[in-house]
Amino acid sequence: MKVDYLRLSITDRCNLRCTYCMPPEGVPPRSHGEILSFEELAVVARVAVGCGVSKVRITGGEPLVRHGCAELVGMLARTSGIHDISLTTNGILLPQYASQLRREGLGRVNVSLDSLDPERFARLTRGGRLDAALAGLASAFDAGFSPIKVNAVLVEGIEDELDAFVDLTREREVHVRFIEFMPLDRRLGGACGVAGRRLVPAPEVLLRLKERYRLVSDQGPYGHGPARYWRLPGARGSLGFVAGVSDHFCGSCNRLRLTADGRLRTCLFSGEEVDVRPFLNRPADLRRVIEAAVAGKRYDRHREALANLRAMSEIGG
Ligand code: SAM
Repeated sequence: MKVDYLRLSITDRCNLRCTYCMPPEGVPPRSHGEILSFEELAVVARVAVGCGVSKVRITGGEPLVRHGCAELVGMLARTSGIHDISLTTNGILLPQYASQLRREGLGRVNVSLDSLDPERFARLTRGGRLDAALAGLASAFDAGFSPIKVNAVLVEGIEDELDAFVDLTREREVHVRFIEFMPLDRRLGGACGVAGRRLVPAPEVLLRLKERYRLVSDQGPYGHGPARYWRLPGARGSLGFVAGVSDHFCGSCNRLRLTADGRLRTCLFSGEEVDVRPFLNRPADLRRVIEAAVAGKRYDRHREALANLRAMSEIGG
């Protein structure tokens, strides 16, 4: 599999505290010195292009809490060889930044929206406001991003919201992706981890939807990644499933991930990472480090999920 996709986590701070992702107090804050500067992130992206990368996604933590995120987009957009720049966000700050991000060259956005019910949204995010997230989604449309995807993690209670998500795909050209909860972080234990949480398998949700709706298989929007898509005939958007646990897709993984503190990871499910910071001023060496990581990338690490020592909020999803 060609590794052509780099996910840059630009901060591990977040303005929400999703129960399955972060402890209530957030993750221990890193000092500015520990976090790569935009120039350093752009260096890694530029060198990664020489190793085959052509698509970059900005993520976090919540990327838009980092001041100047749009500047980074501009730097990436001016990097020859990067053809696709995308962002994963919870949408809360998107109304403020959407047009600037678009102008700087951001092509598409994924908005994480686990619930369309204000109370459940507030519970899941520990105090987040659904109307703010929906305003973010609306601003993505206004700014002209395409495609626009909504990420909804399959945690208990989602079963009661399926109709609302289906309706969203009827009304707007939005691609809802139901994502299986991945029990990645041991440290978060009962609070965010697998303990005490009923996992909702994607096949179960698909079955429920198929009992209620006529769904036709769909090729999915650009950048469909590991999701499998379906569509209601006549609907403007689609419904996708990212079944990272029940139907893992390691064999088709094309991704590299860089954490905000400069660790390169080739697999979400493995704790292995390499610190790129010593090589930031030595592009030839950095290239060798990235090439070695790509060459050593394994495609069978799914079963090691529980050995992973970093939360999704640190790796960037
Ligand atoms: N703050 C941004 C956001 O909310 O989209 C970007 C970072 S967030 C870590 C990226 C995505 O990972 C979100 O869609 C989130 O729901 C998802 N996520 C976090 N923890 C997860 C887990 N354990 N299993 C599956 N998805 C998870």
